[in-house]
Amino acid sequence: MGAGQRDIRTLRGIGEQRAQALERLGIHTVEELLLHYPRSYVDLSAPCEIASAPFDEPCAVRAVVVKKGSETRIRGGLRMYKAVVEDDSGSLELTFFNNQFVLNTLSYGKPYLFYGRVGGALHNRTMSAPQIYPADTSTPFSAVYPLTSGISNRVLSGLVAQALALTPELPECIPPQILESFHLDGIARAVEMIHRPKDAEMLERAKRRLIFEELFTLAVGVGLLRTRIRQCSAAPMQPHSMQAFYDALPFTLTDAQQRAIDDLTSDMQRSTPANRLVQGDVGSGKTMVAVAGAYFAFLSGMQSAMMAPTELLAHQHYSSLEPLCSRLGMRVGLLTGSLTAAQKRKLREQLASGEIHFCIGTHALISDGVAFQNLALVITDEQHRFGVAQRTALQQKGAHVHTLVMSATPIPRTLALMVYGELDVSIIDELPPNRQPVKTYKISSGKRERAFGFIRQHLDRGLQAYIVCPLVEEDAEKENTGLRAAVGYVEELANGAFAGYTVGLLHGKMKAVDKERVMSDFSSGKIQLLVSTTVVEVGVDVPNAVIMMIENAERFGLSQLHQLRGRVGRGSEQSHCILLSDSRSLDTLERLQMMCRSNDGFQIAEYDLQTRGPGNFLGQQQHGLPSLRIADLSTDTDTVIEAKQAAEQVLTSDPDLSQPQHAALRAAVERLMEVVGERPN
Ligand code: ADP
Ligand code: MG
Repeated sequence: MGAGQRDIRTLRGIGEQRAQALERLGIHTVEELLLHYPRSYVDLSAPCEIASAPFDEPCAVRAVVVKKGSETRIRGGLRMYKAVVEDDSGSLELTFFNNQFVLNTLSYGKPYLFYGRVGGALHNRTMSAPQIYPADTSTPFSAVYPLTSGISNRVLSGLVAQALALTPELPECIPPQILESFHLDGIARAVEMIHRPKDAEMLERAKRRLIFEELFTLAVGVGLLRTRIRQCSAAPMQPHSMQAFYDALPFTLTDAQQRAIDDLTSDMQRSTPANRLVQGDVGSGKTMVAVAGAYFAFLSGMQSAMMAPTELLAHQHYSSLEPLCSRLGMRVGLLTGSLTAAQKRKLREQLASGEIHFCIGTHALISDGVAFQNLALVITDEQHRFGVAQRTALQQKGAHVHTLVMSATPIPRTLALMVYGELDVSIIDELPPNRQPVKTYKISSGKRERAFGFIRQHLDRGLQAYIVCPLVEEDAEKENTGLRAAVGYVEELANGAFAGYTVGLLHGKMKAVDKERVMSDFSSGKIQLLVSTTVVEVGVDVPNAVIMMIENAERFGLSQLHQLRGRVGRGSEQSHCILLSDSRSLDTLERLQMMCRSNDGFQIAEYDLQTRGPGNFLGQQQHGLPSLRIADLSTDTDTVIEAKQAAEQVLTSDPDLSQPQHAALRAAVERLMEVVGERPN
């Protein structure tokens, strides 16, 4: 440890200001500095000849300085300096702006590496503001770091060099036999090579080792979580007939729903806790699986809780499920952050006494002071919105709790392995009958008025519609972005195209009570047209709403558009989704065409993953895992599989990582997933 734990301020050149800037990057110690990996590299390993250097692509040339020009003043007081460099193939004119210093550091007749984009004409090549490196650089891949204001790449590279020179001992969290069997470098070498790779191969080795380390740590973490859950006992429930539940439903369940319910209720009859993910496209009827579970627990005299990601959704679940549940003799409660203190107190009492059987709520459910009499089933709706930590916190409200999580976000398989590694999965691959697929169109604003006419025709028939905007309000600071903002737009519509209709407004900045009122007015049909932001994205269910119009559709990801579209097509009436966009980007057009072609969430997610890349597809909050430094769960597929194997190997020999040689691994796992640190009890 020693040198690694040294305060970053002990390095040369770090004063209070730089220390604070580094703190913003999460760097306090020498070790943390070394774990701040480069974002990319300047590749100096194979310089181009000037005459054949590609235009407009970053490249390096190796050349000697033959001429240094004087200062020229150009517009706006900008000073420009020129120099000419040469290699055997030709010459290149360099320009620098406002930076005489750079020019002065160059010596005549000496070779340097210049890195930048070549411009100009075929026989008059130029390079603007190149970066300059010594010609004999020992690090042909020069690191480019994630930065913050007050810390330049040069400064950061210098600090890293100092830190490496201290040869601090970094904790090795991969056990020796794993290093060996997967042919991985040790941590010290990998860290040195990620910062100052000697060649492309070393860089690849270093990356692979560090990606492996991260995925391995994660896989061990997920593995521990699973063991911990399996070690817990649950009170096995008695078999009970669910007939009364089925009889109380206004429809027949689909086979897929029925299977998921059977899976869940048989899990709940075992003495190990149920730990099940129900995955199904929007509108596939996941909620009924949850209610069935709650009813099954109720038959055994136990309580259930369901956590939803937004107040809106919690409230909607409550108002739609309460009548069904009360017919079944099951008392339902609603717990959200916006209850008054008195209401909360009353509800907490009812939960503690067991008077409420099924409590629906937001993350307010996991706050301190909420205690249940005998909580037996914990349900998380729209799982991807919650972290592992929140799910675990709710589980801890009961002694022997079964878990059901529900998600509409389809995720690639390897990712599922890692993310939901501790879960059993039921897939609902069937929509309720009599659903007509939503018809989707892409139009540009020239056709907006016609679209309004189309919406009015539907409103006149007693149906309802949504118009979704990307913004809540115009930002006065910014100039006109061309983006629709719900607040201004609703006025415009209510006084214009939809004068005489009831138009409502819904956005995330409204108070919870106001949102609820609007939502219940929309549910009851009092509001005909709802202008909203993406707050309606998750789970909102109003079957009488049949048109979803999305302004600036280019601003949304495909999976998000699919979620939004899922708000319609919930009844037997033909529904429509209108994507409004004036974007001329071919990529955008193609993405929106994809929406018009497909109604299949899995297919759309797959396409999204391929075209937009994993970074956009799965942001950190989408899967609730800790953010990873270097690994990418959806592209580093082979490593995901290897890391999982390695994790299983280690956990088989040391299931709770109590052996001393796994201390560093244990520490790394705890750092990565704080929740895993809690010991099973
Ligand atoms: P999601 O899977 O998106 O959470 P919901 O559970 O909100 O879907 O269900 C969507 C709508 O379909 C709700 O209005 C629900 O009452 C209805 N529904 C659920 N199951 C069936 C079924 N088997 N037959 C008809 N309608 C159903
Ligand atoms: Mg739902």
